[in-house]
Amino acid sequence: MSIFTYNLKQTNNIMTFFLPNCDRCDKETNSMIGSMFNLQMICSDCKTKESKHEMYDIAVSVESDQVKGGNYNYEGIGLPEDLK
Ligand SMILES: [Zn+2]
Repeated sequence: MSIFTYNLKQTNNIMTFFLPNCDRCDKETNSMIGSMFNLQMICSDCKTKESKHEMYDIAVSVESDQVKGGNYNYEGIGLPEDLK
């Protein structure tokens, strides 16, 4: 049994109403995390994929510079073509 199924049973299916779809692959997911490349909320699979991308370190450092500079609405450097 996957952790995912287990969570649903534990919460009396209440979660099914709130289960979001990943902005990138459109798969249902129980863990969403913000992309470093843009404003998408993505699943852990997509996060793993983007974190291995050669541009990821650059995206992270640009993001942290922007936040340090007070730009909390920074939209990211944009999603690389091969991650779309
Ligand atoms: Zn995804």
